[in-house]
Amino acid sequence: MGTLARIEACGAESMLGDAIERAYGELETVDRLMSLYRGDSELSILNSLNRLNGPERVQADADPTVVSPSTFRVIAAAVRLAEDSEGAFDPTVGPLVRLWGFYRGDGSVPTPEEVVNTRARVGFRHIRLDASRRAVRFEQADLELDLGGLAKGYAVDRAMTRLREAGATAGLVDLGESSVGLYGRAQSFAIRNPLQPDETVGTFKLERGCVSTSAGYQQGFEHEGEWYAHIIDPRDGWPVRNSLSATVLGPEGDAMKVDALSTAGFVAGPDEALRLWERLGVEGVLYFRKGAEVDFVLTSGFPHLSR
Ligand code: AMP
Ligand code: MG
Repeated sequence: MGTLARIEACGAESMLGDAIERAYGELETVDRLMSLYRGDSELSILNSLNRLNGPERVQADADPTVVSPSTFRVIAAAVRLAEDSEGAFDPTVGPLVRLWGFYRGDGSVPTPEEVVNTRARVGFRHIRLDASRRAVRFEQADLELDLGGLAKGYAVDRAMTRLREAGATAGLVDLGESSVGLYGRAQSFAIRNPLQPDETVGTFKLERGCVSTSAGYQQGFEHEGEWYAHIIDPRDGWPVRNSLSATVLGPEGDAMKVDALSTAGFVAGPDEALRLWERLGVEGVLYFRKGAEVDFVLTSGFPHLSR
């Protein structure tokens, strides 16, 4: 999934190696199913089947594709969040991510016309899910799924479950700041200065739960003095400009939700992000541009930051 992984466990020495290996196995499984960095993942194959079969796949009687229970679960969660966020989060954003060059890793600015045309291929409402058969059907040609906004969180949830099951007294799964889960031992988390990411604006402590940060500084490219972030607003097809970073916290076992909600809040912007986070029961803070200044909003239960 294009990130480094760190797993820590505390407990009897006899079980530690096995616990970590099993937890790591969960990360590999999710990578094999849902990564777009590999052409042979279940998700890549689902996307390419759709491309190969073209328009006939969109007919009402076309065969849907049956996917694994895990992939179905994550796709269904992504669609639910797309509904909840009124399309700020959209797992069909793939064609736009490609257009802006983020899969290649060297971004470039497309023409406004290309943005409009590609934008027309995006829309979670064109996905039909049948839970009884775990079937996925795209009702529009050229639709592509990208679960990059929540699959890491899902992987963290699965790996954490393994550490718990194995009897580890404390555990940590860290997929970069984009998704972290922990229990049993307090850990300090830094909120970076979004304009100067090697500096922090403050830290908070968490003993159990999960944390996810989505930020413009994590990935993007510069063009003519302007920074283009890897998170795209599906409603206009452009990389999100006003948001700088979003950090969301939730209880243990909610890493997928928290991962999705940091991405969603980043796209939604301050007013909508607060409403969404409060409605869905997580804590979050969003840093954003206000003219030449940086401002932030946060939910009422967000932990106090110390310096
Ligand atoms: P995260 O690091 O969790 O915020 O996820 C960012 C990744 O999610 C990007 O690299 C894209 O693969 C994908 N993505 C970009 N924009 C969106 C969006 N509006 N909704 C859902 N996923 C997105
Ligand atoms: Mg995310």
